[in-house]
Amino acid sequence: MEVTRRGFLKLTGVSLGTGLIGSLGFDLSPAYARVRELKIAKAKAVKSICPYCSVSCGVLIYSLTDGAMNVKPRVIHVEGDPDDPVNRGTLCPKGATLRDFINSPQRLTKPLYRAPGSTEWKEITWEEAIERIARRIKDTRDRTFIERDAEGRVVNRCESIFWLTGCTIENEPGYLMVKLGRLLGLVALETQARV
Ligand code: SF4
Repeated sequence: MEVTRRGFLKLTGVSLGTGLIGSLGFDLSPAYARVRELKIAKAKAVKSICPYCSVSCGVLIYSLTDGAMNVKPRVIHVEGDPDDPVNRGTLCPKGATLRDFINSPQRLTKPLYRAPGSTEWKEITWEEAIERIARRIKDTRDRTFIERDAEGRVVNRCESIFWLTGCTIENEPGYLMVKLGRLLGLVALETQARV
């Protein structure tokens, strides 16, 4: 990299300035804390989980809204949750970009349905999606449930449904998901948290 005389003077000036402030005994941490405080002042924080990988780090999502009807809160900041035992306030570089992921106009926020044979995706409501999923599970289980194996032993299982839970499912809901899967007789159960 070629360094010009002007660039060299700028760089050394900044380094000397920072070093000088430090060597004069100034503690800049209150100033940094104040900047952070101003950034999230009046913002509302909600706890969530990073959706990117199976580590499932806890995050705090800060959003701003003036409370007016029909105004969508705007996410202004995301940081690691210091109370979360998994990551204790830290985030990896990928998790640190969550604010842009949340605000991306390309992020899907509604279920999409593509009918058999169709090339088009159609937006449907959450109620419709949940209803369709429940119907499919029931019909598939009823159609393929196995009460006895080839030797006549009682097995009561359903081998035609694969049950996968996501990494944002924590221990307790994960436990309930497995219970529900076993109640249905499913044998193929997995969670992304183990991947
Ligand atoms: S912050 Fe990083 S390590 Fe944590 S869940 Fe997200 S992607 Fe995984």
